[in-house]
Amino acid sequence: MSPTERANLLAVKLLLRQQIRSVRTDPFHLDCSGTILVDSIQHYAHCVGAQPEDFLAQNSRDCVVLQMPRLHLILYNRDILSSSRKRWSVAHEIGHICCRHDCDGPAQEMQANAFASSLLIPSVVAREFLQKGYLRRAEDLCALFGVSMQAAQYKFPLLLDYQPSQLEQELLLRYRPAIEEQLHGPIIDLPYHRSFEHSPLLL
Ligand SMILES: [Zn+2]
Repeated sequence: MSPTERANLLAVKLLLRQQIRSVRTDPFHLDCSGTILVDSIQHYAHCVGAQPEDFLAQNSRDCVVLQMPRLHLILYNRDILSSSRKRWSVAHEIGHICCRHDCDGPAQEMQANAFASSLLIPSVVAREFLQKGYLRRAEDLCALFGVSMQAAQYKFPLLLDYQPSQLEQELLLRYRPAIEEQLHGPIIDLPYHRSFEHSPLLL
């Protein structure tokens, strides 16, 4: 099994443990049996009486992982990230933890990115939308799964000749109600924005 296939398998197994309520994965509140917790650097710093700068690494200002006994605490930078980038960064760090990486080389980075891609855009779910004609372009993946255009453009061509495993078929069954709701729910046409931050509410 290649490192990418292994990352995909681990992401599918993690998704199978979740209560699936939406096609959009929430990487901030995954059930990881209490072994991974996610918080913002700013909130955590406030709670422990420290400054956010105390937790921001020089080489990565997106996310930092604190390793504690039997627990990984993923802290993301609330201030500088777009919603899709925040989601990806947290999913990427969960990937490092699930793949049991002990260093941050190019191979580990690639595997953590493959994990994040599988976690945020489960191929079997995206393929279903593709087959139903709901997805036509990479941009559609952004809106549906809350990922960046870069992540969508990487994933989209991979969906075209992809065959799901038996475990992924099982995952598809779990997603079925959420998929049906997405396909047949009320149609609200939202304009596409590069960043998924909420626009200010105008009254
Ligand atoms: Zn990394």
